[in-house]
Amino acid sequence: MISSSLDKYSHDETPGITPVFPVGVFEPKTTQEVQEVVHYALQNKLAITARGAGTGKAGGCVPSPNSLVIDFSKMNQILDISPENLIAKVQPGVVPADLRQAVEAKNLFYPPDPNSLAWCTLGGNIATNAAGPSALKYGSTRDYVLGLEVVLANGEIMRLGKQTVKGVAGYDLVSLICGSEGTLALVTEITVKLLPKPRNLQTALLSFDSNEKALEAVNQILALGYLPKTLEYMDAACMQGKPALIVEYDGPDDQMQELGAVNSQVAQDEKQRRAIWEHRRMMSERLKKRAKHKISEDIVVPRNQMLVFVHELEKLGVKHGVQTASFGHAGDGNLHAQILFDEDLEPQKTDEILRELFSLTIKLSGTISGEHGIGLAKKPYLHLEQSESLMALQKAIKQVWDPKNILNPGKIF
Ligand SMILES: Cc1cc2nc3c(=O)[nH]c(=O)nc-3n(C[C@H](O)[C@H](O)[C@H](O)COP(=O)(O)OP(=O)(O)OC[C@H]3O[C@@H](n4cnc5c(N)ncnc54)[C@H](O)[C@@H]3O)c2cc1C
Repeated sequence: MISSSLDKYSHDETPGITPVFPVGVFEPKTTQEVQEVVHYALQNKLAITARGAGTGKAGGCVPSPNSLVIDFSKMNQILDISPENLIAKVQPGVVPADLRQAVEAKNLFYPPDPNSLAWCTLGGNIATNAAGPSALKYGSTRDYVLGLEVVLANGEIMRLGKQTVKGVAGYDLVSLICGSEGTLALVTEITVKLLPKPRNLQTALLSFDSNEKALEAVNQILALGYLPKTLEYMDAACMQGKPALIVEYDGPDDQMQELGAVNSQVAQDEKQRRAIWEHRRMMSERLKKRAKHKISEDIVVPRNQMLVFVHELEKLGVKHGVQTASFGHAGDGNLHAQILFDEDLEPQKTDEILRELFSLTIKLSGTISGEHGIGLAKKPYLHLEQSESLMALQKAIKQVWDPKNILNPGKIF
């Protein structure tokens, strides 16, 4: 049960995170083994950090000090898929792409689609409430979780939520666990809601001659009464002067609109569809090649504030002598704000830039994280968004679930 190398457990995919090594690593295959680890940790006064695939971008699975890691990647069985009930039951180490493939074979659809879906795990998705391009129409992971089996901080195994698609008995603790970043409970089994697989899919890449026109088109599409599956934005800095939207419809009654685009390319087959998405999928990697350092933040602003945000981000870049760019899930107002620079910046300087970026976001009634979570990376900035009493309320909730503070201590707050 104990893994030999501790290196890979000391970090996730967050740039610049300080590595922390765990005291030991467990790779359980059953809920009972997870329970045993919790008892062992309690007896030995150790903390526990849960880990899925380590693709997180907020340092959430970086071990807390004096911590055991539970690596859930070997709890990776799809336990049941029920077409009649439109639900599936899985272990937390299942990779979402595998679940999607398995349910698609039965003409079903599991919508949450973080761009990391080929590597990350369902447990990690729940703990971060992950989302992707289709969140505009289909929502985030939380919208698909009906029930959870969890191991609590005292070692008790508990079922939360329901096994049916409807049900309102008691508080919605499933939603509380979604986005709790491994600080409240260890997820050992997941019941998700499925949908019938949509029959049509139309994908188009629309190019515009300004960021303004591209972002105006986002609001126009929605104002016309269309709800695309995705509305992904890539600004002029990302697209060599030609900002673009990827618009994807999967409803039978939807149609593509021109919407002021100077060029539109509609995919005629799956190969062309993949080629269009390649622009978006590789965006982060392409931007990395433009400068020695890249910081990427997943802020959200109300849709009608995106243009203001994009302008102010440019100004922020000029002020600090760094390049900026933005792309992302424009349909949700969730923009991946990019800061690119070659010089090694002092940590205080990076902190100053981030503080200004997040303050701008909050001034526009936005939030500092749309999908990656707070973890360690955004912990110093949460107080910019949330009041002291709101943070105290959340700490009190943590105290009830985990009175000895053994589950991922030091994360979020
Ligand atoms: C290339 C790339 C693209 C990405 N694109 C997206 C995107 O489009 N949308 C998006 O939302 N995110 C994205 N991410 C971020 C990341 O993939 C998600 O946050 C994902 O949900 C993390 O899953 P994981 O299994 O890797 O979790 P980890 O990184 O291992 O852990 C994340 C958090 O979950 C907790 N956790 C893990 N398993 C459990 C469990 N069983 N019980 C309790 N807590 C648990 C950990 O303690 C930690 O706090 C991307 C990352 C990369 C590298």
